[in-house]
Amino acid sequence: MDFELSKEQKDIVKAAKEFAEGEFPDRAEEFDRDESFDEAIYKKAADLGFVGTFIKEEYEGPGMGMLEYCLIFEEFAVVDPGIAVAILISSYGAEIIQAFGSEEQKKKYLPPLVKGEAVMGAAFTEPDAGSDLAGATLTTAVREGDEYIINGSKMFITNGDRADYLICFVQTDPDNPNRHARHSMIMVETDREGFEANHLTGKLGIRASDTAELSFNNVRVPASNLVGELGNGFMEAMHLFNLDRIIVAAQAVGTARAALEESIKHVKKRTSFNAPLSSFQSIQFKIADMFSWIQAGRNLVYEAAWRVDLGAIDHKLIAAAKSFCGQMAVKCTDMALQMHGGYGYLAEYKVQRLFRDAKITEIYEGTTEIEKIIMAKNLLG
Ligand SMILES: Cc1cc2nc3c(=O)[nH]c(=O)nc-3n(C[C@H](O)[C@H](O)[C@H](O)COP(=O)(O)OP(=O)(O)OC[C@H]3O[C@@H](n4cnc5c(N)ncnc54)[C@H](O)[C@@H]3O)c2cc1C
Repeated sequence: MDFELSKEQKDIVKAAKEFAEGEFPDRAEEFDRDESFDEAIYKKAADLGFVGTFIKEEYEGPGMGMLEYCLIFEEFAVVDPGIAVAILISSYGAEIIQAFGSEEQKKKYLPPLVKGEAVMGAAFTEPDAGSDLAGATLTTAVREGDEYIINGSKMFITNGDRADYLICFVQTDPDNPNRHARHSMIMVETDREGFEANHLTGKLGIRASDTAELSFNNVRVPASNLVGELGNGFMEAMHLFNLDRIIVAAQAVGTARAALEESIKHVKKRTSFNAPLSSFQSIQFKIADMFSWIQAGRNLVYEAAWRVDLGAIDHKLIAAAKSFCGQMAVKCTDMALQMHGGYGYLAEYKVQRLFRDAKITEIYEGTTEIEKIIMAKNLLG
Protein backbone atom coordinates (compact mmCIF):
# COMPACT_ATOMS: atom_id res chain seq x y z
CA MET A 1 0.00 0.00 0.00
CA ASP A 2 1.31 3.42 -0.97
CA PHE A 3 -0.44 6.68 -0.03
CA GLU A 4 1.94 8.83 -2.09
CA LEU A 5 0.75 10.28 -5.41
CA SER A 6 3.05 9.59 -8.35
CA LYS A 7 5.19 12.39 -9.80
CA GLU A 8 2.80 12.61 -12.76
CA GLN A 9 -0.23 12.89 -10.44
CA LYS A 10 1.49 15.60 -8.39
CA ASP A 11 2.18 17.52 -11.62
CA ILE A 12 -1.53 17.22 -12.55
CA VAL A 13 -2.53 18.60 -9.12
CA LYS A 14 -0.07 21.48 -9.49
CA ALA A 15 -1.26 22.34 -13.00
CA ALA A 16 -4.95 22.18 -11.98
CA LYS A 17 -4.32 24.37 -8.94
CA GLU A 18 -2.40 26.94 -10.99
CA PHE A 19 -5.09 27.08 -13.67
CA ALA A 20 -7.95 27.42 -11.18
CA GLU A 21 -6.17 30.03 -9.06
CA GLY A 22 -5.27 31.99 -12.19
CA GLU A 23 -8.68 31.93 -13.87
CA PHE A 24 -11.50 31.51 -11.32
CA PRO A 25 -11.19 34.05 -8.47
CA ASP A 26 -11.83 37.16 -10.58
CA ARG A 27 -14.99 35.70 -12.12
CA ALA A 28 -16.48 33.48 -9.38
CA GLU A 29 -18.56 36.17 -7.67
CA GLU A 30 -19.90 37.47 -10.99
CA PHE A 31 -20.91 33.99 -12.25
CA ASP A 32 -22.56 33.24 -8.92
CA ARG A 33 -24.44 36.55 -8.81
CA ASP A 34 -25.54 36.55 -12.48
CA GLU A 35 -25.93 32.76 -12.84
CA SER A 36 -23.68 32.97 -15.86
CA PHE A 37 -20.51 31.46 -17.25
CA ASP A 38 -17.86 32.42 -19.79
CA GLU A 39 -17.26 29.73 -22.42
CA ALA A 40 -13.76 31.16 -22.96
CA ILE A 41 -12.71 29.64 -19.62
CA TYR A 42 -14.05 26.26 -20.73
CA LYS A 43 -12.11 26.52 -23.99
CA LYS A 44 -8.94 27.47 -22.12
CA ALA A 45 -9.35 24.52 -19.75
CA ALA A 46 -9.84 22.20 -22.73
CA ASP A 47 -6.76 23.60 -24.49
CA LEU A 48 -4.75 22.78 -21.37
CA GLY A 49 -6.07 19.21 -21.30
CA PHE A 50 -8.44 19.42 -18.32
CA VAL A 51 -11.64 18.42 -20.15
CA GLY A 52 -12.68 14.83 -20.83
CA THR A 53 -9.53 13.52 -19.16
CA PHE A 54 -11.02 10.00 -19.05
CA ILE A 55 -11.44 9.91 -22.85
CA LYS A 56 -9.00 7.47 -24.41
CA GLU A 57 -6.14 8.44 -26.73
CA GLU A 58 -7.79 6.85 -29.79
CA TYR A 59 -10.57 9.44 -29.36
CA GLU A 60 -8.08 12.27 -28.86
CA GLY A 61 -8.26 12.36 -25.04
CA PRO A 62 -5.43 11.88 -22.55
CA GLY A 63 -6.90 8.59 -21.30
CA MET A 64 -6.31 9.36 -17.63
CA GLY A 65 -7.83 7.37 -14.78
CA MET A 66 -10.62 8.18 -12.34
CA LEU A 67 -8.11 9.13 -9.67
CA GLU A 68 -6.59 11.84 -11.88
CA TYR A 69 -10.08 13.12 -12.70
CA CYS A 70 -10.79 13.37 -8.94
CA LEU A 71 -7.51 15.17 -8.29
CA ILE A 72 -8.37 17.82 -10.88
CA PHE A 73 -11.93 18.15 -9.58
CA GLU A 74 -10.81 18.70 -6.00
CA GLU A 75 -8.29 21.39 -7.00
CA PHE A 76 -10.86 23.21 -9.17
CA ALA A 77 -13.57 22.97 -6.50
CA VAL A 78 -11.29 24.41 -3.81
CA VAL A 79 -11.13 27.61 -5.83
CA ASP A 80 -14.77 27.58 -6.98
CA PRO A 81 -17.16 24.60 -7.02
CA GLY A 82 -19.55 26.22 -9.53
CA ILE A 83 -16.87 26.89 -12.14
CA ALA A 84 -15.40 23.43 -11.51
CA VAL A 85 -18.75 21.88 -12.42
CA ALA A 86 -19.29 24.16 -15.44
CA ILE A 87 -15.93 23.08 -16.87
CA LEU A 88 -15.47 19.47 -15.85
CA ILE A 89 -19.06 18.29 -16.27
CA SER A 90 -19.13 19.59 -19.85
CA SER A 91 -18.50 16.05 -21.02
CA TYR A 92 -21.11 14.47 -18.70
CA GLY A 93 -22.42 11.27 -20.26
CA ALA A 94 -19.39 10.71 -22.51
CA GLU A 95 -18.54 7.84 -20.15
CA ILE A 96 -21.55 5.98 -21.61
CA ILE A 97 -20.47 6.61 -25.20
CA GLN A 98 -16.96 5.42 -24.41
CA ALA A 99 -18.16 2.23 -22.71
CA PHE A 100 -21.19 1.28 -24.82
CA GLY A 101 -21.18 3.38 -28.01
CA SER A 102 -20.38 2.16 -31.51
CA GLU A 103 -17.00 3.03 -33.01
CA GLU A 104 -18.75 5.59 -35.22
CA GLN A 105 -20.42 7.24 -32.22
CA LYS A 106 -17.15 7.39 -30.28
CA LYS A 107 -15.35 9.06 -33.21
CA LYS A 108 -18.21 11.49 -33.72
CA TYR A 109 -18.99 12.57 -30.16
CA LEU A 110 -15.82 12.20 -28.06
CA PRO A 111 -13.05 14.23 -29.78
CA PRO A 112 -15.02 17.53 -29.92
CA LEU A 113 -15.48 17.35 -26.12
CA VAL A 114 -11.77 16.99 -25.44
CA LYS A 115 -11.03 19.97 -27.69
CA GLY A 116 -13.64 22.14 -26.03
CA GLU A 117 -15.51 22.38 -29.32
CA ALA A 118 -18.69 20.78 -27.97
CA VAL A 119 -20.57 20.39 -24.71
CA MET A 120 -22.51 17.30 -23.69
CA GLY A 121 -25.01 16.34 -21.01
CA ALA A 122 -26.98 13.33 -19.80
CA ALA A 123 -30.73 13.55 -19.24
CA PHE A 124 -32.33 11.10 -16.81
CA THR A 125 -34.45 13.03 -14.32
CA GLU A 126 -38.02 14.02 -15.17
CA PRO A 127 -40.50 16.26 -13.36
CA ASP A 128 -41.94 13.12 -11.68
CA ALA A 129 -38.95 10.79 -11.82
CA GLY A 130 -35.75 11.36 -9.86
CA SER A 131 -34.52 8.72 -7.44
CA ASP A 132 -36.85 6.10 -8.94
CA LEU A 133 -35.38 6.20 -12.41
CA ALA A 134 -36.41 2.75 -13.61
CA GLY A 135 -39.90 2.90 -12.14
CA ALA A 136 -41.01 6.39 -13.06
CA THR A 137 -39.24 7.58 -16.25
CA LEU A 138 -41.92 8.22 -18.85
CA THR A 139 -40.24 9.93 -21.82
CA THR A 140 -40.76 7.62 -24.77
CA ALA A 141 -38.79 6.77 -27.90
CA VAL A 142 -40.89 4.95 -30.49
CA ARG A 143 -39.23 3.31 -33.49
CA GLU A 144 -40.64 4.31 -36.88
CA GLY A 145 -38.64 3.01 -39.85
CA ASP A 146 -35.05 4.20 -39.48
CA GLU A 147 -35.88 6.73 -36.78
CA TYR A 148 -36.89 7.07 -33.14
CA ILE A 149 -39.55 9.62 -32.26
CA ILE A 150 -39.06 11.05 -28.79
CA ASN A 151 -41.75 12.65 -26.62
CA GLY A 152 -41.64 13.78 -23.01
CA SER A 153 -39.78 16.09 -20.68
CA LYS A 154 -36.69 16.13 -18.50
CA MET A 155 -35.91 18.20 -15.42
CA PHE A 156 -32.74 19.61 -13.77
CA ILE A 157 -30.45 18.73 -16.68
CA THR A 158 -26.89 20.00 -16.34
CA ASN A 159 -25.81 21.72 -19.59
CA GLY A 160 -29.36 21.28 -20.94
CA ASP A 161 -29.36 24.78 -22.44
CA ARG A 162 -25.68 24.71 -23.36
CA ALA A 163 -25.05 21.27 -24.79
CA ASP A 164 -24.61 20.33 -28.44
CA TYR A 165 -25.81 16.82 -27.69
CA LEU A 166 -27.53 15.07 -24.82
CA ILE A 167 -27.66 11.38 -24.11
CA CYS A 168 -31.22 10.67 -22.97
CA PHE A 169 -32.73 7.92 -20.86
CA VAL A 170 -35.99 6.96 -22.59
CA GLN A 171 -38.63 4.26 -22.49
CA THR A 172 -38.35 1.91 -25.48
CA ASP A 173 -40.23 -1.10 -24.09
CA PRO A 174 -42.73 0.18 -21.49
CA ASP A 175 -44.57 -3.15 -21.15
CA ASN A 176 -41.52 -5.22 -20.36
CA PRO A 177 -42.19 -6.99 -17.01
CA ASN A 178 -38.56 -6.34 -16.04
CA ARG A 179 -38.48 -2.64 -15.05
CA HIS A 180 -34.72 -2.59 -15.67
CA ALA A 181 -35.18 -3.58 -19.33
CA ARG A 182 -37.74 -0.92 -20.29
CA HIS A 183 -35.31 1.89 -21.11
CA SER A 184 -32.53 2.71 -23.56
CA MET A 185 -30.02 5.52 -24.01
CA ILE A 186 -30.45 7.61 -27.15
CA MET A 187 -28.33 10.54 -28.29
CA VAL A 188 -30.24 13.72 -29.17
CA GLU A 189 -28.52 16.60 -30.93
CA THR A 190 -29.98 19.78 -29.47
CA ASP A 191 -30.60 21.46 -32.84
CA ARG A 192 -33.25 18.87 -33.74
CA GLU A 193 -36.76 20.07 -34.43
CA GLY A 194 -39.13 19.68 -31.46
CA PHE A 195 -36.39 19.96 -28.83
CA GLU A 196 -36.55 22.84 -26.38
CA ALA A 197 -34.41 23.76 -23.36
CA ASN A 198 -35.30 26.25 -20.66
CA HIS A 199 -32.43 27.51 -18.48
CA LEU A 200 -33.50 27.33 -14.83
CA THR A 201 -32.64 30.28 -12.60
CA GLY A 202 -32.68 30.78 -8.86
CA LYS A 203 -30.50 27.83 -7.90
CA LEU A 204 -29.06 27.80 -4.37
CA GLY A 205 -25.52 27.08 -5.49
CA ILE A 206 -23.14 26.04 -8.32
CA ARG A 207 -24.73 28.90 -10.20
CA ALA A 208 -22.05 29.02 -12.92
CA SER A 209 -23.33 25.63 -14.07
CA ASP A 210 -26.27 25.59 -16.48
CA THR A 211 -29.32 23.60 -15.35
CA ALA A 212 -32.33 23.30 -17.64
CA GLU A 213 -35.68 21.67 -18.15
CA LEU A 214 -36.14 20.02 -21.52
CA SER A 215 -39.08 19.18 -23.68
CA PHE A 216 -39.21 16.70 -26.55
CA ASN A 217 -42.09 17.14 -28.91
CA ASN A 218 -41.93 14.51 -31.67
CA VAL A 219 -38.15 14.84 -31.87
CA ARG A 220 -36.89 12.55 -34.62
CA VAL A 221 -33.42 11.03 -34.43
CA PRO A 222 -31.87 8.35 -36.62
CA ALA A 223 -32.10 4.83 -35.17
CA SER A 224 -28.29 4.82 -35.25
CA ASN A 225 -28.42 7.31 -32.31
CA LEU A 226 -29.30 4.41 -30.01
CA VAL A 227 -26.28 4.01 -27.71
CA GLY A 228 -25.52 0.45 -26.69
CA GLU A 229 -28.16 -2.26 -26.74
CA LEU A 230 -31.89 -1.70 -26.85
CA GLY A 231 -33.28 -2.12 -23.32
CA ASN A 232 -29.88 -1.75 -21.66
CA GLY A 233 -30.41 1.89 -20.63
CA PHE A 234 -30.61 1.26 -16.90
CA MET A 235 -27.31 -0.65 -16.84
CA GLU A 236 -25.66 2.11 -18.89
CA ALA A 237 -27.01 4.74 -16.50
CA MET A 238 -25.61 2.83 -13.53
CA HIS A 239 -22.22 2.66 -15.22
CA LEU A 240 -22.19 6.45 -15.47
CA PHE A 241 -23.47 7.00 -11.92
CA ASN A 242 -20.84 4.70 -10.46
CA LEU A 243 -18.11 6.80 -12.02
CA ASP A 244 -19.60 10.23 -11.49
CA ARG A 245 -20.63 9.62 -7.88
CA ILE A 246 -16.92 9.48 -7.09
CA ILE A 247 -16.46 12.75 -8.96
CA VAL A 248 -19.22 14.43 -6.94
CA ALA A 249 -17.54 13.14 -3.78
CA ALA A 250 -14.28 14.76 -4.97
CA GLN A 251 -16.25 17.97 -5.59
CA ALA A 252 -17.48 17.77 -1.99
CA VAL A 253 -13.95 17.25 -0.66
CA GLY A 254 -12.75 20.32 -2.59
CA THR A 255 -15.66 22.40 -1.31
CA ALA A 256 -14.99 21.34 2.30
CA ARG A 257 -11.26 21.97 1.93
CA ALA A 258 -11.97 25.49 0.73
CA ALA A 259 -14.16 25.99 3.81
CA LEU A 260 -11.31 24.85 6.06
CA GLU A 261 -8.76 27.07 4.32
CA GLU A 262 -11.03 30.12 4.60
CA SER A 263 -11.70 29.33 8.26
CA ILE A 264 -8.03 28.99 9.20
CA LYS A 265 -7.28 32.38 7.62
CA HIS A 266 -10.22 34.00 9.39
CA VAL A 267 -9.76 32.61 12.91
CA LYS A 268 -6.09 33.58 12.96
CA LYS A 269 -6.92 37.17 11.97
CA ARG A 270 -10.15 37.89 13.83
CA THR A 271 -10.01 38.71 17.54
CA SER A 272 -12.66 38.46 20.22
CA PHE A 273 -12.28 39.11 23.97
CA ASN A 274 -8.78 40.47 23.17
CA ALA A 275 -7.60 37.17 21.72
CA PRO A 276 -7.54 35.63 18.26
CA LEU A 277 -10.47 33.28 17.61
CA SER A 278 -7.90 30.56 16.96
CA SER A 279 -6.93 30.61 20.66
CA PHE A 280 -10.36 29.33 21.76
CA GLN A 281 -10.66 25.61 22.17
CA SER A 282 -14.14 25.35 20.66
CA ILE A 283 -12.76 26.95 17.48
CA GLN A 284 -9.72 24.66 17.52
CA PHE A 285 -11.99 21.62 17.81
CA LYS A 286 -13.97 22.75 14.76
CA ILE A 287 -10.76 23.12 12.75
CA ALA A 288 -9.53 19.70 13.93
CA ASP A 289 -12.86 18.01 13.13
CA MET A 290 -12.99 19.56 9.67
CA PHE A 291 -9.46 18.40 8.92
CA SER A 292 -10.24 14.81 10.04
CA TRP A 293 -13.50 14.58 8.11
CA ILE A 294 -11.96 15.99 4.92
CA GLN A 295 -9.05 13.56 5.16
CA ALA A 296 -11.45 10.65 5.76
CA GLY A 297 -13.58 11.74 2.79
CA ARG A 298 -10.58 12.11 0.52
CA ASN A 299 -9.35 8.64 1.44
CA LEU A 300 -12.76 7.21 0.51
CA VAL A 301 -12.65 9.06 -2.82
CA TYR A 302 -9.12 7.92 -3.61
CA GLU A 303 -9.82 4.28 -2.78
CA ALA A 304 -13.10 4.20 -4.73
CA ALA A 305 -11.37 5.81 -7.75
CA TRP A 306 -8.29 3.59 -7.45
CA ARG A 307 -10.50 0.48 -7.48
CA VAL A 308 -12.29 1.70 -10.62
CA ASP A 309 -8.91 2.24 -12.28
CA LEU A 310 -7.95 -1.33 -11.36
CA GLY A 311 -11.18 -2.55 -12.97
CA ALA A 312 -12.58 -3.67 -9.60
CA ILE A 313 -15.58 -1.35 -9.07
CA ASP A 314 -16.87 -1.47 -5.48
CA HIS A 315 -20.45 -0.18 -5.47
CA LYS A 316 -20.81 0.15 -1.71
CA LEU A 317 -17.50 1.98 -1.42
CA ILE A 318 -18.58 4.43 -4.13
CA ALA A 319 -21.91 4.96 -2.35
CA ALA A 320 -20.03 5.46 0.93
CA ALA A 321 -17.73 8.05 -0.66
CA LYS A 322 -20.66 9.95 -2.18
CA SER A 323 -22.84 9.88 0.92
CA PHE A 324 -20.08 10.61 3.44
CA CYS A 325 -18.46 13.41 1.42
CA GLY A 326 -21.77 15.14 0.64
CA GLN A 327 -22.77 15.24 4.30
CA MET A 328 -19.24 16.18 5.30
CA ALA A 329 -19.14 19.14 2.89
CA VAL A 330 -22.48 20.43 4.17
CA LYS A 331 -21.27 20.13 7.77
CA CYS A 332 -17.84 21.71 7.11
CA THR A 333 -19.24 24.68 5.20
CA ASP A 334 -21.79 25.24 7.97
CA MET A 335 -19.02 25.24 10.57
CA ALA A 336 -16.92 27.59 8.45
CA LEU A 337 -19.81 30.03 8.17
CA GLN A 338 -20.36 29.84 11.92
CA MET A 339 -16.70 30.64 12.59
CA HIS A 340 -17.01 33.69 10.33
CA GLY A 341 -19.93 35.02 12.38
CA GLY A 342 -21.93 37.77 10.66
CA TYR A 343 -19.31 38.17 7.93
CA GLY A 344 -19.96 34.61 6.79
CA TYR A 345 -23.54 35.63 6.08
CA LEU A 346 -22.44 38.17 3.46
CA ALA A 347 -22.09 37.41 -0.24
CA GLU A 348 -18.66 39.05 -0.40
CA TYR A 349 -17.26 36.32 1.85
CA LYS A 350 -16.41 33.11 0.02
CA VAL A 351 -17.79 30.90 2.82
CA GLN A 352 -21.31 32.06 2.06
CA ARG A 353 -20.96 30.75 -1.52
CA LEU A 354 -19.32 27.52 -0.31
CA PHE A 355 -22.18 26.98 2.15
CA ARG A 356 -24.66 27.26 -0.75
CA ASP A 357 -22.49 25.27 -3.19
CA ALA A 358 -22.04 22.33 -0.82
CA LYS A 359 -25.67 21.22 -0.67
CA ILE A 360 -25.88 19.94 -4.25
CA THR A 361 -23.36 17.20 -3.42
CA GLU A 362 -26.07 15.62 -1.26
CA ILE A 363 -28.65 15.77 -4.03
CA TYR A 364 -27.45 15.04 -7.55
CA GLU A 365 -26.00 11.80 -8.87
CA GLY A 366 -28.00 9.92 -6.21
CA THR A 367 -29.15 11.57 -2.98
CA THR A 368 -27.51 10.77 0.35
CA GLU A 369 -30.50 8.55 1.19
CA ILE A 370 -30.25 6.60 -2.08
CA GLU A 371 -26.52 6.03 -1.48
CA LYS A 372 -27.33 4.67 1.98
CA ILE A 373 -29.94 2.35 0.46
CA ILE A 374 -27.28 1.04 -1.96
CA MET A 375 -24.83 0.40 0.89
CA ALA A 376 -27.46 -1.27 3.05
CA LYS A 377 -28.57 -3.53 0.17
CA ASN A 378 -24.96 -4.53 -0.44
CA LEU A 379 -24.30 -5.21 3.22
CA LEU A 380 -27.57 -6.84 4.18
CA GLY A 381 -28.28 -8.65 0.94
C1 LIG B 1 -28.31 21.48 -9.95
C2 LIG B 1 -28.81 20.12 -10.37
C3 LIG B 1 -28.22 19.48 -11.46
C4 LIG B 1 -28.69 18.24 -11.87
N1 LIG B 1 -28.18 17.65 -13.00
C5 LIG B 1 -28.77 16.54 -13.51
C6 LIG B 1 -28.38 16.02 -14.79
O1 LIG B 1 -27.44 16.49 -15.44
N2 LIG B 1 -29.06 14.95 -15.27
C7 LIG B 1 -30.10 14.37 -14.61
O2 LIG B 1 -30.68 13.44 -15.14
N3 LIG B 1 -30.50 14.84 -13.40
C8 LIG B 1 -29.86 15.91 -12.83
N4 LIG B 1 -30.27 16.40 -11.64
C9 LIG B 1 -31.38 15.75 -10.92
C10 LIG B 1 -30.93 15.00 -9.67
O3 LIG B 1 -30.17 13.88 -10.00
C11 LIG B 1 -32.22 14.66 -8.86
O4 LIG B 1 -32.72 15.88 -8.34
C12 LIG B 1 -31.94 13.67 -7.77
O5 LIG B 1 -31.63 12.40 -8.29
C13 LIG B 1 -33.15 13.52 -6.82
O6 LIG B 1 -34.31 13.31 -7.52
P1 LIG B 1 -35.60 14.22 -7.21
O7 LIG B 1 -35.18 15.64 -7.24
O8 LIG B 1 -36.69 13.80 -8.11
O9 LIG B 1 -35.95 13.88 -5.72
P2 LIG B 1 -36.89 12.66 -5.22
O10 LIG B 1 -36.47 11.41 -5.89
O11 LIG B 1 -38.30 13.10 -5.32
O12 LIG B 1 -36.47 12.59 -3.70
C14 LIG B 1 -36.90 13.56 -2.73
C15 LIG B 1 -36.34 13.16 -1.39
O13 LIG B 1 -36.85 11.88 -1.02
C16 LIG B 1 -35.78 10.98 -0.77
N5 LIG B 1 -36.15 9.63 -1.24
C17 LIG B 1 -36.61 9.26 -2.46
N6 LIG B 1 -36.80 7.94 -2.50
C18 LIG B 1 -36.46 7.45 -1.27
C19 LIG B 1 -36.44 6.15 -0.69
N7 LIG B 1 -36.78 5.07 -1.37
N8 LIG B 1 -36.04 6.05 0.61
C20 LIG B 1 -35.67 7.14 1.31
N9 LIG B 1 -35.67 8.39 0.82
C21 LIG B 1 -36.05 8.54 -0.47
C22 LIG B 1 -34.60 11.52 -1.54
O14 LIG B 1 -33.38 11.07 -0.98
C23 LIG B 1 -34.81 13.01 -1.37
O15 LIG B 1 -34.29 13.43 -0.14
C24 LIG B 1 -29.76 17.62 -11.15
C25 LIG B 1 -30.32 18.26 -10.05
C26 LIG B 1 -29.88 19.49 -9.66
C27 LIG B 1 -30.53 20.18 -8.49
